[in-house]
Amino acid sequence: MTKEDTTPKRVTVLGSTGSVGINTLDLIRQNPSRFRVVALTAGSNVDALIAQALDLKPEIAVIADPDCYGRLVEGLHGSDVVVAAGPEALVEAAGLSADLVMAAIVGAAGLAPTLAAVKNCQTVALANKECLVCAGPMFMDTVKQCGTTLLPVDSEHSAIFQVFDATLSNTVERIILTASGGPFREWTRDRMATATPAEAMAHPNWSMGAKISVDSATMMNKGFELIEARHLFPVAEDKIEILVHPQSVVHSLVEYIDGSTLAQLGTPDMRTPIAYALAWPDRMAVPSDKLNLAEISSLTFEPPDFNRFPALRLAREALQVGGAAPTILNASNEVAVARFLAGEIGFLDILGTVEDTLAQCRNDHPTTLDEVMALDAEARRLAQTWIAVGSAAE
Ligand code: NAD
Ligand code: MG
Repeated sequence: MTKEDTTPKRVTVLGSTGSVGINTLDLIRQNPSRFRVVALTAGSNVDALIAQALDLKPEIAVIADPDCYGRLVEGLHGSDVVVAAGPEALVEAAGLSADLVMAAIVGAAGLAPTLAAVKNCQTVALANKECLVCAGPMFMDTVKQCGTTLLPVDSEHSAIFQVFDATLSNTVERIILTASGGPFREWTRDRMATATPAEAMAHPNWSMGAKISVDSATMMNKGFELIEARHLFPVAEDKIEILVHPQSVVHSLVEYIDGSTLAQLGTPDMRTPIAYALAWPDRMAVPSDKLNLAEISSLTFEPPDFNRFPALRLAREALQVGGAAPTILNASNEVAVARFLAGEIGFLDILGTVEDTLAQCRNDHPTTLDEVMALDAEARRLAQTWIAVGSAAE
């Protein structure tokens, strides 16, 4: 905050009970004079939402699952917090006037509320990368039409944002997205075939929600980040590369035509990119471990293995094909990851489901929210059918 600007930022947190949401609220709590909370929302974790609302006293708390409404009313009875439930209430809360909305819902479920935030609020901090995967062109058109400031929260995109010279984008030669390689970086495909949900969620460097942790294990997360980068930065798809960097210290790099390569470094702690977005265009202190390069002593880099991690190829192809393909990629992946986490399919079946669903891809170009959501629903049905047929054949 600059000296002149002492008015607290009015902040809404969508997905406040998740990993990014909790980190965001921790930073808000540590800076009570800088922020006021407008709305908090969650999917179905109603007890966590009640505790957050009692603590931070937002104007409104919304639970997406209508079955949790009674519990929310009971838990916030006697407080001044307005309560509401259901997907429509979520969209309404997301569109309430706020200086900044942290969009941290997981999956395509976050698209409608995040779009409402884009339409009604000055600045949207985007963690919910699936918005850009399932509806990239439409989402970015809306951002442009509304003149909204979109700040990336994903650590790689926050890094690029910090070193990308938007006034000289024609001098950018390449964007290099770093990837930790996930928990299976050194595993063979045979070993991956027997991977359990617990093993897939044991990320070596980052502590994150269940879905993104599995996406990191398949490396679909990096495929999504490729699509995300293409929409966030004015750089062609073939100029965005992926580099495996197991230490997760260099968060991404931008190479310029004169041979300069700029990078942003830090310990792997999501509070750093979250704080960057919350405080932007200023910076704020974060109680994270600071980087000690002498102690780390060596940073290593290696090319990604496209054979063991076919998600990287599938995501790039979906980006190249465009239209319906990224929407279907995202929807089928969401279905397959949920079924894997429930112990119903194997780890390698995740990509099997995605690949097969994509092969049945309709050649559509969804341009509205309704069209995206219809396609998303159809892809989910196809993915579920593929899984059902696969299990029947076993
Ligand atoms: P999470 O699963 O920990 O939390 C998700 C949040 O969304 C929760 O508050 C949950 O209640 C809410 N939610 C889930 N389903 C919902 C629905 N149908 N309707 C409304 N709300 C719903 O996820 P996370 O790890 O915090 O990730 C959130 C987003 O940020 C994802 O898109 C992820 O890819 C991205 N991201 C996360 C990290 C990280 O460190 N966790 C890093 C980079 C990007
Ligand atoms: Mg990331």
